[in-house]
Amino acid sequence: MNGQDNNQQDLSCTACTGTLQEYLDGTLEKTQSLRVFLHLRDCAACKQEHDDLLLMSRMLDGLPAVEPPADFDAPILASVPYAAYKAMEPLRRERVPVFLEENALPAAVRSVITRVAGLVLAAGAGAGLFFLNGPDVLGAVAILGLLPEAAVRLQAVGRSAVLAVRRTES
Ligand SMILES: [Zn+2]
Repeated sequence: MNGQDNNQQDLSCTACTGTLQEYLDGTLEKTQSLRVFLHLRDCAACKQEHDDLLLMSRMLDGLPAVEPPADFDAPILASVPYAAYKAMEPLRRERVPVFLEENALPAAVRSVITRVAGLVLAAGAGAGLFFLNGPDVLGAVAILGLLPEAAVRLQAVGRSAVLAVRRTES
């Protein structure tokens, strides 16, 4: 029994419990494993620890494998900002570049009075230029008069074009 006593002295309780998991897993090196075995035989405290660990291992092994439910990720995705981000997608799609937004044009340009007045001015200038052979400056006046209406219409065309493209992308 002398050799076994020597083996027990070689292994402290701390060293023994520190290697118990490996001992149980069978991954401990052979002579070290023998030391643990001999220590456990003579040390009630470490034996108890060993038994507890073994019991727990068996319980864990006995647990059925858990499959996540099919909708496992749904509540998680719903709880992170990503879901809110996704929910706002329709709103983002309705956005158009700033220069195409209606209020990018001054209210004075957008007003019906300005646009109608501009058209009347353009028509008058155009008529003066073509039928009355007026000065060339009437051409510039005609273009100037057309600008408010043209700006508003071009903007509207641009807006619907952007939104149409977005819709085909989605
Ligand atoms: Zn011990």
